Amino acid sequence: MNMDYKKVLPHIYEGKANRLYEVEGHPEYLIIERKDDITAGNGAKHDTIEDKGFYNNKISNQLFWVLRNNSAVVPTHFVQELSDCETLIQKTNPIKLEIVVRNIATGSIIERLPFDDGQEFTNPIFELYYKDDALGDPLINHSEALALGVISERDYADIEGMALIVNDTLKEFFNEIGIILVDFKIEVGRTPQGDLIIIDEISPDTCRLWDAETRKKLDKDRFRQGLGDEAGAYREIYRRVCEQVFFIVFRDV
Ligand code: UDP
Repeated sequence: MNMDYKKVLPHIYEGKANRLYEVEGHPEYLIIERKDDITAGNGAKHDTIEDKGFYNNKISNQLFWVLRNNSAVVPTHFVQELSDCETLIQKTNPIKLEIVVRNIATGSIIERLPFDDGQEFTNPIFELYYKDDALGDPLINHSEALALGVISERDYADIEGMALIVNDTLKEFFNEIGIILVDFKIEVGRTPQGDLIIIDEISPDTCRLWDAETRKKLDKDRFRQGLGDEAGAYREIYRRVCEQVFFIVFRDV
């Protein structure tokens, strides 16, 4: 770990997949530590996947790099990778929303609406969920988001625009490495300056990623559906993402 940034122990927050620490002398930052724990069904199913914290830390940081280095820059909380499973991030005020974009119908949307599993959408679908474990993170609409007071009208437009840019950017990035970006979830936080930036992670825990040739699932659905070899799937995404970022860095030199 980089000695410039020292964790304040104990951690201030522990979620299903991360721990957050304050940083000595730097109130504007936090350290996020990715865990090997994996859960599904709001914590009903739990296990650990060997090296998942490592894969998700690396994958998420690389994808945040892709978003930052894209022509349409999307700001994220990423500051600096500190170790295999730890990253320095900008501290924000998290917005209580899960933002989902879907390119292909699967998961909860096919239980709710009469789409076929695997059906491609002509235009991406944008959804908001209210982050509340006790309520089971319910789907909410535009006016409910405003009425709940979580975001303003202006924020709604900014979040939708940002989510669609993330989708365009990552869809293209994954396409280059033979992976279909089926859907994903992102979260946003507000900086002290009032800007909304992407926080949390973008990883196989939060995206559905299918191999373009075989349609093999290379994401958390392997765990949700009991398909096995989760570590192999995360490792495969890690390998392809890192190779492609390496390629882009040297292509642009
Ligand atoms: N997702 C997530 N966290 C959640 C719920 C969903 O990261 O708490 C991601 C999920 O991995 C998928 C997308 O959001 O990429 C859409 O998930 P869906 O609504 O289909 O819910 P699920 O089938 O996971 O219950």
